[in-house]
Amino acid sequence: MTAPLIDSFARVHDSLRISVTDRCNIRCFYCMPEEGVKFMPREEILSFEDIERFVRVAVSLGVNKLRITGGEPLVRRNLPDLIARLHAVPGVQDLALTTNAVLLEEFAQPLYDAGLRRLNIHLDTLDRERFLKITRRDDLPKVMSGIATAQKAGFRKIKINIVAVKNLIEPDIVPMAKYCRENGFEPRYIEFMPLDSQELWGKSRVLSADEMAALISKEVGELVEAPDRDPRAPATDYVYADGGGRVGFIASVTKPFCMNCNRLRLTSDGKIRYCLFAIEETDVKQQIRTGTGDDIAAAIRGCVAAKWVGHEINSAKFVPPPRPMYSIGG
Ligand code: SAM
Ligand code: SF4
Repeated sequence: MTAPLIDSFARVHDSLRISVTDRCNIRCFYCMPEEGVKFMPREEILSFEDIERFVRVAVSLGVNKLRITGGEPLVRRNLPDLIARLHAVPGVQDLALTTNAVLLEEFAQPLYDAGLRRLNIHLDTLDRERFLKITRRDDLPKVMSGIATAQKAGFRKIKINIVAVKNLIEPDIVPMAKYCRENGFEPRYIEFMPLDSQELWGKSRVLSADEMAALISKEVGELVEAPDRDPRAPATDYVYADGGGRVGFIASVTKPFCMNCNRLRLTSDGKIRYCLFAIEETDVKQQIRTGTGDDIAAAIRGCVAAKWVGHEINSAKFVPPPRPMYSIGG
């Protein structure tokens, strides 16, 4: 049997996030600049065959969870074809997609038919003006019809990602929690991270998970720690004491979960990363395109072996990664 992917801090890696594009159809200010974004040339981007080849090797090393992300993954042509390919790989136990839902009205059914069952939808606000301000696009109606189409297609337990930027998102926290509670969605409030490419981030702009949990507990319903909380998961999970659903917080800044990290990332241009905040990356494109399975496995093992203990957002030594969020794959 092949040895699992264990790094020098005894963390077992079984989860892979795959970015399929660095392009996006909206411009969330905390992720992408409004103008002048330079996207990767198409020939640099891994094909679906390339991605499947990499995944088959990763799965042989113990990876069993995949998440497709970007940029905006639905702007990648024929994405349901990739989902069908990955769904068919023996050993893939969990396949999920993170999307801004702008194109979900068109793609929800084909994605479901291709075998996708788990969706994370990124939506910070239910207010059209505020949506426009955050994303620089007037696409809230499309997002809402995308969500409705996903429900009709059969997606259940949809998670809603909300990026928590202090002095901005406060008016949306309670309405988003109520909306999710009423519709059976699970909100995941994500602390603002220094990945914005424009250096807008500062500690003073981070709204902490604890502050948000207290507000929701007071205004929406009492939250208690989820009894089945997975200590390895990045989210700190709560449930409403009255049984009204689940609420997650990703406290990457105020409560880093690096010692539980089980993730690797593959960028759309074929680089393996051991952390969202990593400075170094392992180029695996040539191995995928012209090498053997052993060459790809060696590149994955090399990346895992080099993994650091964790990011140092809270230290004066912190250096933001050279690539912004949309280019790494969130
Ligand atoms: N476009 C898709 C989307 O927005 O969901 C997938 C890619 S996006 C980079 C993945 C997730 O990253 C988003 O759902 C959003 O919640 C999160 N995100 C983006 N910029 C962030 C930042 N600066 N801090 C924290 N989370 C961020
Ligand atoms: Fe696009 Fe997602 Fe980044 Fe927003 S967070 S700009 S939707 S990639």
